[in-house]
Amino acid sequence: MTMSHNGLTKLTEECGELTQIAMKKIAFADTDTHPDGKGSMKLRLEEEIADVRAASQFVIDNFNLDEEFIKERAEQKLSMFAEWHNQSNMIVSTNTETIAKQNDGLPWLKSPIAITFFFVILSLFILVC
Ligand SMILES: [Mg+2]
Repeated sequence: MTMSHNGLTKLTEECGELTQIAMKKIAFADTDTHPDGKGSMKLRLEEEIADVRAASQFVIDNFNLDEEFIKERAEQKLSMFAEWHNQSNMIVSTNTETIAKQNDGLPWLKSPIAITFFFVILSLFILVC
């Protein structure tokens, strides 16, 4: 095997493989078993991330890219991703609290008196019909 275009071809191939396993994990989020039956999706995700990192390093070396710039940008992106993740968790949390409050709007329906009254009315209705 040759490394064409100083590793760019391999980098795109590995990015494609990572995209494929990431999408598979999204589609089958509640299990670790890959639908092809060939093992753990977590392990395959780890393998493809490792492959992308290796291919990225190969490209960095062959194109003499600025590693310090890449490292700083990656740290900025990581901070931004963490912020987005926290914001989406807050939105989910707020929505869950709102739904809980809405469901709590008629607490008298949960009382033993209300339940007894409901069954008395239901029994009378059945007797009449
Ligand atoms: Mg790979």
